[in-house]
Amino acid sequence: MKSRTSPLRPGRKTAANPADARVASLLPLAAAALILAACGEPAPEVRIYSGATMGTTYNVSIADGHADGSAVADAIATELDDVNRRMSTWLDDSELSRFNASASTDWQPVSASLCELIELALEISAGTGGAFDITVLPLVDLWGFGADGGVASLPSAADVAAVRERTGYAKLATDCSGPALRKTRSDLEVDLSAIAKGYGVDRVAERLEALGFANYLIEVGGELRVRGTKRDGAPWRIGLERPEAGISAVQTGLELSDTGVATSGDYRNYYEVDGDRYSHTIDPTTGAPVRHTTASVTVLAPRAVEADALATALLVMGAEEGLSFAEARGIAALFLDRRGSEIHARSTPAFTEIVRSSGRKIRP
Ligand code: ADP
Ligand code: MG
Repeated sequence: MKSRTSPLRPGRKTAANPADARVASLLPLAAAALILAACGEPAPEVRIYSGATMGTTYNVSIADGHADGSAVADAIATELDDVNRRMSTWLDDSELSRFNASASTDWQPVSASLCELIELALEISAGTGGAFDITVLPLVDLWGFGADGGVASLPSAADVAAVRERTGYAKLATDCSGPALRKTRSDLEVDLSAIAKGYGVDRVAERLEALGFANYLIEVGGELRVRGTKRDGAPWRIGLERPEAGISAVQTGLELSDTGVATSGDYRNYYEVDGDRYSHTIDPTTGAPVRHTTASVTVLAPRAVEADALATALLVMGAEEGLSFAEARGIAALFLDRRGSEIHARSTPAFTEIVRSSGRKIRP
């Protein structure tokens, strides 16, 4: 079991089942950022399936009537377990950890699902000018946010520069006709933590569709996907959490149908040194945790996997750059910025339009 103690590692959530660290894994700290949760009481006859995965929890609500709950529960758990066993950097024997541990620069055969997720991640890296970069893992570790636990002191500029040399998404290639992956540096390592929960949500959605369901809300560690309505025909109600450590309050409520929803933020997984906040989102251009006033970004996209990756990328950019980037590409995004003790919300027209058309805003 890997050590999880460190002076520079406060304020983190523990694994859903800390007694069994092997069960935990992908993100032992659960969702960073705003945890999005369904608000209010479930409508009658909505069935809820819950459990632990990827070091966090999942909740699946299904509004379509059905009899065999245990088969549905098994189907959901099987999908999420498969994602975790392939994509986790917190399990030493996951498929991804084995690729990371290999020093080979030859093509290495991998499963189609791992290859395709990495291919998508690389496309998003290219599309976001490298703000999203799954090769930041050595930097995540250097700053004390990795599976080996926190660090005793902040890394030096020289350490950051040296470790940054090992990163860069252009050093990773995919050939999913193989399917195979290749690193051009033997010490390159891949971290899917910013995209795997959204991917897991989509995998569960596909499974539920195959089982004939059309009205559901799937949530894994704060990333979601909704389709259809609750039993009473009302849209699903989603609460966006106020980006503040130590409290759980709703910043804004949304009613949504047929969308993926993901949030990245700096207030769940961070530490402070001399009044400065260091959070787990790394700016690949500096090699250090992001430094700006944007506390969280929420993205709506058809697939949760895209929403998850884009929320991370836009948090790296921050509201100033991220808003114009998102607007130019029609991305539906909401940025929450800290201004003193106030939280200042700004959203793109695409975000406003989706919220307007899929439900009414519950609370400003
Ligand atoms: P959360 O998992 O808390 O919802 P994110 O989806 O933003 O938040 O994922 C954050 C995780 O992604 C970090 O803990 C780290 O492992 C990884 N990461 C950090 N910076 C980046 C980046 N620029 N691009 C891709 N992944 C990143
Ligand atoms: Mg993300």
